[in-house]
Amino acid sequence: MSGERTTASDPYFPDHGDSRYRVHRYELALDYRPGPNRLAGTARLSAIAGRAPLTEFHLNLSEFKVGRILVNGRAPHYTHRGGRLRVRPAKPLSAGAAFTVEVHYAGNPRPVRSPWGGLGWEELTDGALVASQPVGAPSWYPCNDRPADKASYQISVNTPSAYTVVAGGRLLTRTTKASTTTWVYEQSAPTSSYLVGLSIGMYQTVLLGDPGLGGVPQSAHVPAHLLPRFSRDFARQPAMMQLFEELFGPYPFGEYAVVVADEELDVPVEAQGLSLFGANHVDGARGSERLVAHELAHQWFGNSVTIADWRHIWLNEGLAKYAEWLWSERSGGRTAQELASTAHRLLATQPQDLKLADPGRKLMFDDRLYERGGLTVHAIRCALGDGAFFRMLRDWATVHRHGVVTTATFTAHVSRYATEPVDGLLRAWLQQPSLPPLPSPHGAPAIPERPAYPPTNGGSGGLGRASA
Ligand SMILES: [Zn+2]
Repeated sequence: MSGERTTASDPYFPDHGDSRYRVHRYELALDYRPGPNRLAGTARLSAIAGRAPLTEFHLNLSEFKVGRILVNGRAPHYTHRGGRLRVRPAKPLSAGAAFTVEVHYAGNPRPVRSPWGGLGWEELTDGALVASQPVGAPSWYPCNDRPADKASYQISVNTPSAYTVVAGGRLLTRTTKASTTTWVYEQSAPTSSYLVGLSIGMYQTVLLGDPGLGGVPQSAHVPAHLLPRFSRDFARQPAMMQLFEELFGPYPFGEYAVVVADEELDVPVEAQGLSLFGANHVDGARGSERLVAHELAHQWFGNSVTIADWRHIWLNEGLAKYAEWLWSERSGGRTAQELASTAHRLLATQPQDLKLADPGRKLMFDDRLYERGGLTVHAIRCALGDGAFFRMLRDWATVHRHGVVTTATFTAHVSRYATEPVDGLLRAWLQQPSLPPLPSPHGAPAIPERPAYPPTNGGSGGLGRASA
């Protein structure tokens, strides 16, 4: 499907990203007016050309009015069409050369349309929220929009003083002049463009856990009227942080923030050092606690250890799903085995046409990918045994911390912890659409000598493939 374009780096989104160069730092200076939803900005990118000289390169940017572009301080030729800036520097860039790009732009930011609804910058009733996964980042700044191109970020937002601005990373300064305030955040860890999150709203800021104990600083930004419910729903997040640090290794970033928007969101979304929830995810009864665990786990799986392209998304979602199960198991809830059994029962009734390791763009956010992803991790745990499995998991997050990985990287990693070959098991779960049997820690059935079976309450078998 792709491949014909030499610049394309992602088979699912051939118009996003340019593999001929990489960006190592973005500095965004933005001014936002919530009423008219007006964004004006300057983006300064520090980049490096790849192995070949660059006579032109691409950036992704939605339909803003572009005022001026400079490459190494000189005006290039450029076109801006279809969400893409094609830039031809006045002087070609040598292979491996460092260069800077400055883009001045302004307009009314709008979400990028997608099969999963609007992505990226979303104007709220009072404020704004950015959740870009997978290709919404160009809705608010020019970027080399591919997950493997990770960079550090400094984000400065100037907006009316009544609003709180939350971005992932450390708040460096907050300066009020007249009726506006400028918030400057620094995210020094390598960050994918889709993971740059932002929220502007009327929030109360609270701290979670006991900052005096020297753990990971955890803050929350919540509309005042939701605080009572929030404080119950997120009360166990510090304990989750502790558990995940024990299981996955040290938290990969300097701090963790959560935002609860004052409107409903379909699903919570992870960003670097930040997770965004909707008002519908706080009910005062911990009804969404598994999602609190899920988003936190993405800080290790997805944000620190990042997929090279979207074909490998099960690595993000399968491991975050499994973290939900581990949290449940370790906090007195249902065990991972029980949750795996429920997921398996559900999947057995659904069409089996999803290849986990390359689901295709259409199915990349399918519920089945999450459930089967969790089951796959559980199958690996059953095959390795707990000791080797948890060593494997922690080493995965440690060895590839702030790195970029693929499914092949993962399967090679897993194999190193197995005493018996796991190739057949991994192939069955990752490469074949049919559902392997439910794994269990004792005598996990070899793969796949019989079709998927219903759990014990089922009775008559003959499943294997659910009718769609
Ligand atoms: Zn997720």
